Amino acid sequence: MELSLTDLQDLRTALDTKRVSSVELAQHYLARIDAARALNAFVDVSPEATLAQARAADARLARGEGGATAPLLGIPLAHKDVFVTREWVSTAGSRMLAGYRSPFDAAVVERLAEAGMVCLGKTNMDEFAMGSSNENSHFGPVKNPWDLSAVPGGSSGGSAAAVAGGLAPVATGTDTGGSIRQPAAFCGLTGIKPTYGNVSRYGMIAFASSLDQGGPLGRSAADCAQLLSAMAGFDKRDSTSLERPAENYMRQLGQPLPGASAAQPLAGLRVGLPREYFGDGLADDVRTAIENALQTLESLGAVRVEISLPKTELSIPVYYVIAPAEASSNLSRFDGVRYGHRAAQYADLLDMYKKTRAEGFGAEVKRRILVGTYVLSHGYYDAYYLQAQRIRRLIAQDFQDAFAQCDLIIGPVAPSVAWNLGEKSDDPLKMYLADIYTLSVSLAGLPGMSVPVGFGQAQRPVGMQIIGNYFDEARMLQVAHAFQQVTDWHRRQPQGGV
Ligand code: GLN
Repeated sequence: MELSLTDLQDLRTALDTKRVSSVELAQHYLARIDAARALNAFVDVSPEATLAQARAADARLARGEGGATAPLLGIPLAHKDVFVTREWVSTAGSRMLAGYRSPFDAAVVERLAEAGMVCLGKTNMDEFAMGSSNENSHFGPVKNPWDLSAVPGGSSGGSAAAVAGGLAPVATGTDTGGSIRQPAAFCGLTGIKPTYGNVSRYGMIAFASSLDQGGPLGRSAADCAQLLSAMAGFDKRDSTSLERPAENYMRQLGQPLPGASAAQPLAGLRVGLPREYFGDGLADDVRTAIENALQTLESLGAVRVEISLPKTELSIPVYYVIAPAEASSNLSRFDGVRYGHRAAQYADLLDMYKKTRAEGFGAEVKRRILVGTYVLSHGYYDAYYLQAQRIRRLIAQDFQDAFAQCDLIIGPVAPSVAWNLGEKSDDPLKMYLADIYTLSVSLAGLPGMSVPVGFGQAQRPVGMQIIGNYFDEARMLQVAHAFQQVTDWHRRQPQGGV
């Protein structure tokens, strides 16, 4: 089957008009996954399980379901392998969980399955979501479909590569400090990290629980809005899930902002540009692409406001204290007794723990467990962990001060376009510094998204970040959608083919 359908709306129409069946769609994508093995985007596929879900979707379609009432019915997607699944392995990119099968499905997996979506498999990722390049996976690095010598970003690099490479129309990801936004930027996709507490973490393998948040990756804001509408919502099984009425993130798309007109749909929108996000560290190609995008937003009626987020620089040390601290606690469960890998030979219980963890975890995970244990230890807790928590509070306050002057904040997602595979993998500090524009948003629990705005050095994609106040996802998507109505960066696809 030749497939030139690119967005969820096209797929919906094709399914509803019986131009294609869900089984045919699933077969198309499974064949693409097989043909594009060089990307290493997937860690597990199970055509049988996928086709069973597609057949069930076709049966529902035959009963007349679909259309606006079941907008995702029959549409395939890929799940980041951090969401546990019964029918596919759940590894979090780690040797510790290689081959592990969960007895239950994560809330996100469950919700999207109920919506009638068809799972194509599980996507590769940095081990336990720790990384910015997808080179920390036990299952090997993922490649960027735009340029096989570039990283796809991380930690949701497999999901991003899958969508950008045409192996899945949309995918799930998780973002603890940038892991949806940065791979979306590096692969020319749209992705949104929702407000902390909006998407259930039940069944999401934990990295840093006070920061982890699931969200969608897709080509367009409209596709992300569609997926997020099904993913988000209160879940009593997650103690940090916020009890709010369900939202339809599609509702405002294509409409002008309140008080604006069709010709100038963003009239009056105050876009805050943080001084600290446009300083020396920002590469010229990224700066130029964002500047062009800002001019487009102005042509739609938006106005620029200069703002300041003075604690931006501190977000790196603060995040790299808090996230490892939480990780060291969360990862203590992987002890060779309850889950996954166990060393084959050991002298006694302590030796079993030691060998199991030494063998099961990769270098970056071990580094973080060491840092996390250190900053939580007696005598250092006050100096590092407590201090980091205090500054975290101030970082969140910076944003609230900024939102007194603007409606949304705009900046880069990352200081540069995707770097080469291997370029930063020996230098963790260099890798951490590249997270400068995404970490503070996560520390504050705010929603942030990445929108493709052009190409930079070596024709690699550039992403623009939109940051909203708590629960402002609908407006962020509306603005991104308005931008995508007059630009076509999100429609570009890698040429050459993998
Ligand atoms: N790059 C950051 C880290 O390595 C963020 C990862 C994430 O959001 N999961 O921790």
